[in-house]
Amino acid sequence: MALSLVAMEGSSSNKRQVESLRDGDCNAKRQNVAMGLEALECSVFSKPLKPPIYQCSLGHFLCLSCCCENRDNKCHLCSVETSFERCFGMEHVVKSVAVPCSNPQYGCVQQISYYQKEEHEKTCPNAPCFCPESVCGFVGSTMALLGHLTAKHKCPVSTFHESEVVNVCLY
Ligand SMILES: [Zn+2]
Ligand SMILES: [Zn+2]
Ligand SMILES: [Zn+2]
Ligand SMILES: [Zn+2]
Repeated sequence: MALSLVAMEGSSSNKRQVESLRDGDCNAKRQNVAMGLEALECSVFSKPLKPPIYQCSLGHFLCLSCCCENRDNKCHLCSVETSFERCFGMEHVVKSVAVPCSNPQYGCVQQISYYQKEEHEKTCPNAPCFCPESVCGFVGSTMALLGHLTAKHKCPVSTFHESEVVNVCLY
């Protein structure tokens, strides 16, 4: 899977995000690159690598839980007996790679570390919600759905307390 890392320039909210990703280093160079994201995934389960990251003596990366479960000290890729060393360089790399949220069409302009993307998208305030009317087919952010429900289905907004909004999103 190859994914283009989308432009960091443009809207001011994107720029603010860049600032916060700089880690206090004002000389940090940021450029949009296209890379195969499998390079950032654990070699055992193809899940995004997140710190702490370990590597075999030939440089295959794996995550902490896969490293802990490895009982015979053999890398499952090269099958060589090895000791797994923590790889701080790779940790630095995964922390510096930002990818866009999958919900730009619903208004989310956030750039997230690749390994935090899944977690972000579970709680993304702009994640799409589906209209509970089965024949309707409307999809939009939570706010757009609320607007849609009141405008289209004449649901009074006052009946949507926090918990009910969450229930709607689960459809
Ligand atoms: Zn793993
Ligand atoms: Zn290996
Ligand atoms: Zn998002
Ligand atoms: Zn609807």
